[in-house]
Amino acid sequence: MHELSIAESIVDIIHQYVEEKHLPLVHDVSVKVGALAGVVPDSLEFNFAAITADTPLQNARLRIVPVPFVIRCNECGATSEPGGPIAICPRCGGMATKTLSGTELQVAEIEVNEPEEAP
Ligand SMILES: [Zn+2]
Repeated sequence: MHELSIAESIVDIIHQYVEEKHLPLVHDVSVKVGALAGVVPDSLEFNFAAITADTPLQNARLRIVPVPFVIRCNECGATSEPGGPIAICPRCGGMATKTLSGTELQVAEIEVNEPEEAP
């Protein structure tokens, strides 16, 4: 399942950036998901919750940040959201376009509570 392997990669990334002893303090993990990334947000959240249950990351919550598909037209220079997966400029109909966003799938932010000071 696609979303399961993505959820596993996210857990790997968290482990890379957060010290083992601070893992239980992770509360929010923002993930940018482009409109064309082919990811079902609900399914990703579900899989993430499933694989972190009963682990030090059980308090971590996935926050999906949707990123729209945006193109820039090489012909007229317009920046637009085509509203579908086909990169045609809605303004002039040009097909020479550059994709500015919409394909990303990346962990943007890992929020960790301040560790409690030892008395
Ligand atoms: Zn155009």
